[in-house]
Amino acid sequence: MATISKATVCEIKEYGKDTREYALKLDRNNYFEPGSFLLLTLEEKDDYTKWPESRNFSIASIYGKDAMIRLVIRKTGAYTTRIFNELAVGKTCTVKYAFGDFLLPFYDAKSPVCCIAGGTGIAPVLSFAEELKKNGQESRLHVYYSFKNSEENIGVDVLKGIVPGSQLHLYSTREQLSGVNCRRIEKNDILDSGLDFESSHFYICGSEAFTACFKELLLGEDVRNIYTDEW
Ligand SMILES: Cc1cc2nc3c(=O)[nH]c(=O)nc-3n(C[C@H](O)[C@H](O)[C@H](O)COP(=O)(O)OP(=O)(O)OC[C@H]3O[C@@H](n4cnc5c(N)ncnc54)[C@H](O)[C@@H]3O)c2cc1C
Repeated sequence: MATISKATVCEIKEYGKDTREYALKLDRNNYFEPGSFLLLTLEEKDDYTKWPESRNFSIASIYGKDAMIRLVIRKTGAYTTRIFNELAVGKTCTVKYAFGDFLLPFYDAKSPVCCIAGGTGIAPVLSFAEELKKNGQESRLHVYYSFKNSEENIGVDVLKGIVPGSQLHLYSTREQLSGVNCRRIEKNDILDSGLDFESSHFYICGSEAFTACFKELLLGEDVRNIYTDEW
């Protein structure tokens, strides 16, 4: 059964004017798999009767005894605007977790894990990176991450500390930045990656158009292990 917990905002990091990383402390701390998502409501809720209006967010961190979780939230509509307005440091919300099947392959602890992420789609990748590092398996991780500019480069510092240098591919679409490809991720970036398409696991996360583009590409290469999450 999913866990319902009060969550208190401990820290907020701004990434430009429309994206934030929230660090939340859970009252009820149960295990969740890296890559899971939760439901967040601004209402107080303590029981399993009708769940109030909420939105889904990927958990950008892994389970820990400190009961802390991180979410990356982009303000795109009415409810995320409410979250930005109402969820200040010290305030509480309610979360129900954990859900989803955008998870690491538990049956395969050896093959490469290649993540292709756009914008807030980096959230589950940050949780994969933390998990692989915890298990001493960060050499399996390859990341292709596209963001707009230096303000919105969510988690780049974390990724730089985990992903082997030659396996971290960064793309900024709206600003020239040193050490970053100043363009979108192109199909050939993936085709020329040198990854074994038969054994590698490909995780694609971003907008619907973004995930559809790379999914189609990989299907055309007869890739077997493709997982997508889009919003
Ligand atoms: C699995 C998953 C993971 C996600 N992870 C992230 C993430 O990490 N970061 C991030 O920024 N976004 C994430 N999203 C998207 C997020 O859940 C919101 O859909 C998005 O932020 C839309 O913004 P909004 O709610 O402000 O827009 P709104 O305009 O308020 O609503 C957008 C959509 O929400 C749905 N909706 C409308 N009313 C209701 C209601 N009463 N109850 C329930 N749903 C309703 C409708 O589909 C609507 O089109 C994720 C979505 C999914 C499905």
